[in-house]
Amino acid sequence: MTSTKYIFVTGGVTSSLGKGIIAASLAKLLQSRGFNVTIQKFDPYINIDPGTLNPYEHGECYVTDDGAETDLDLGHYERFLNIPTSQSNNITTGKIYNNVIQKERAGEFLGKTVQVIPHITDEIKANFYKLGETGLFDFIITEIGGCVGDIESLPFIEAVRQTRFELGSDHVVAIHLTLIPYLKAAGELKTKPTQHSVKELLEAGIQPDILVCRTEFGLNDEIRRKLALFCNVQIDHVIESLDADTIYDVPMLMLKEKLDLRVLDKFKIKSKEQPNIASWKEYLIRVKNPTSILKIGLVGKYIELKDAYKSITESFIHAGATKNCHIEIIWIQSEDVQEENCLELLSDLNGILVAPGFGKRGINGKIKAIKIARENQIPFFGICLGMQCAMVEFAQNVLKLDNASSTEIDDNPKNPVIDIMENQKNIEKLGGTMRLGAYTCILKQDSLARQVYGQNRISERHRHRYEFNNNYLSQFKKAGMMASGINKETDLVEIMELKNHPWFIATQFHPELKSTVVNPHPLFVGFVDAALKQKNQ
Ligand code: GLN
Repeated sequence: MTSTKYIFVTGGVTSSLGKGIIAASLAKLLQSRGFNVTIQKFDPYINIDPGTLNPYEHGECYVTDDGAETDLDLGHYERFLNIPTSQSNNITTGKIYNNVIQKERAGEFLGKTVQVIPHITDEIKANFYKLGETGLFDFIITEIGGCVGDIESLPFIEAVRQTRFELGSDHVVAIHLTLIPYLKAAGELKTKPTQHSVKELLEAGIQPDILVCRTEFGLNDEIRRKLALFCNVQIDHVIESLDADTIYDVPMLMLKEKLDLRVLDKFKIKSKEQPNIASWKEYLIRVKNPTSILKIGLVGKYIELKDAYKSITESFIHAGATKNCHIEIIWIQSEDVQEENCLELLSDLNGILVAPGFGKRGINGKIKAIKIARENQIPFFGICLGMQCAMVEFAQNVLKLDNASSTEIDDNPKNPVIDIMENQKNIEKLGGTMRLGAYTCILKQDSLARQVYGQNRISERHRHRYEFNNNYLSQFKKAGMMASGINKETDLVEIMELKNHPWFIATQFHPELKSTVVNPHPLFVGFVDAALKQKNQ
């Protein structure tokens, strides 16, 4: 019998209630009581992973150290828990079916009809248990994507039912997150959608142990009693989840509502009365009481959906907190940046970040924004495509190279300063084939990057097919743009920085994927620091 305990988080009534944040908050509280916890997400869609999705669909694609392209909730898990996730932390329906079909082709089920139950549900359960079997964790929290009642999530829900049946209720707790809407006309919070959603779960054979109720207003005793009675849960297992100012408030709200203690009670585990959460509280105080404000322009082509840049915006919150500074993100659609308006749009900013991305749309606007930052001594931070655009800008406007471009943008530029990586040239399949995950990088002794990191060997995460073309390295260097971070195995340029500029750093990797509450990323901290200095000048 396993000693690992499994906690499942399902959602009802609507999507976007913040299951990921509730899961991460509960995990944070359990962690701060001394337990080892990880969180995994099971997504009901058919894509093998979100790597091929347009960011407008589900927001940013989060990349792990081991190169998994995953749901953005994994970013929240890492930012809250400060422990890395992996390939095993995000599973989709597509991956489950793919595994089962491969096994079928290999003859593993020989003679049998392969069916949703038991074959698909067995595969789901095997994946539920995978991280538990490492023996590293006391608790595995599994977030089931989508809403109860969706056709697509049925096999996941059925697998949760079976898990509870097989391991017993001492090992499995089911939490259901729902919405308690407020009807203005009636002046009342309404419980009916939650009742229906729980009914749906019951039909699938799952009695939730704990209800977490997302609400605009506090739940009074009467509502709590009603929810308990109709949904079959103990009254103190009805947990209120009030709308919060920041996601980082949610662990404190859950602590107040004793979500962690209720879960531990269910597992019959005793724990000290208060978790060790003092540093989180301090962090929150800093986030909420800034002494200064910075305006940072985020130039990107997906800005209509803020989730497309989730890790970047969170990294700014972490970095800002270290300086008691609120970072106001000024969202700039790269397509809107034109010759006529670019100075007006950008010159008042305290810093400019040009975001990652793919393809041609909005490229010219990004290049214009970089030119403004470079010429006007505005602190600049380029990430991945943002770095590549910075090199194109430099080649065009400083080196004056004729028709300088990236081969991602132009088919056959005369000066391809950014080019496809050699080992990408023959790749035809698009899923999971980029240069993905963590690689090390060595920093130049006398560089700003070296100073900012305070060490000379770093590891950062990647997701790209194009790279800086080393044939141009010496020209760039002569003109003041130095490669301050290099991957020694492949000579790939990881960081470029400009001399004679207050702060101009562009990275091929994605620093935003490694910033956490406990460890704000040094490049974001350095950038914020430079922006503050320039503002106070
Ligand atoms: N499109 C660029 C590449 O593939 C940059 C990718 C990114 O910004 N993540 O290299």
